[in-house]
Amino acid sequence: GGGATDPKNLKVKLVLLGDSGVGKSCIVLRFVRGQFDPTSKVTVGASFLSQTIALQDSTTVKFEIWDTAGQERYAALAPLYYRGAAVAVVVYDITSPESFNKAQYWVKELQKHGSPNIVLALVGNKADLQENREVSIEDAKGYAEKNGMFFIETSAKTADNINQLFEEIAKRLPRTPT
Ligand code: GDP
Ligand code: MG
Repeated sequence: GGGATDPKNLKVKLVLLGDSGVGKSCIVLRFVRGQFDPTSKVTVGASFLSQTIALQDSTTVKFEIWDTAGQERYAALAPLYYRGAAVAVVVYDITSPESFNKAQYWVKELQKHGSPNIVLALVGNKADLQENREVSIEDAKGYAEKNGMFFIETSAKTADNINQLFEEIAKRLPRTPT
């Protein structure tokens, strides 16, 4: 079996969007390899990484994760990147209001040009930096609710909520009727 049409074994394209430096690559590396490398300057070398998770109802979800190699700097290239994505994870840094503004830009872009049934997640990363917080949970949560998105704060550094992020996304995927 397998493939996108088997309701027990889903395969989905997931893209990450957000300002450069918010921690997109670190989130992917934490999820896929269980690692955090604070010295790594480069983005994930491979064009995509995959990771499969099993849900309690015995569904498996294989995420094909597309990490940008800096394409986030070129808005015009973005549609090529998120085309056909079933999931978009829009990431900001809780210490950076600019990155939260940029996240809202990406959400609008995805609502206009993304796949019709795309699952959108809003992620406030670097939650370990509480003392430098500049984006409140209330603001982010309110924005996410208004836009029908799932919201969570994560830390790729401590691993806090990283698995939960992907599990919650998996639960929200549309299932092909049997
Ligand atoms: P990207 O440009 O969005 O892919 O960002 P990166 O994943 O390359 O991360 C940018 C910088 O933020 C790196 O120096 C990381 O070490 C740091 N970083 C990423 N995630 C976290 C986190 O959860 N907490 C903290 N404190 N730093 C992080
Ligand atoms: Mg990166």
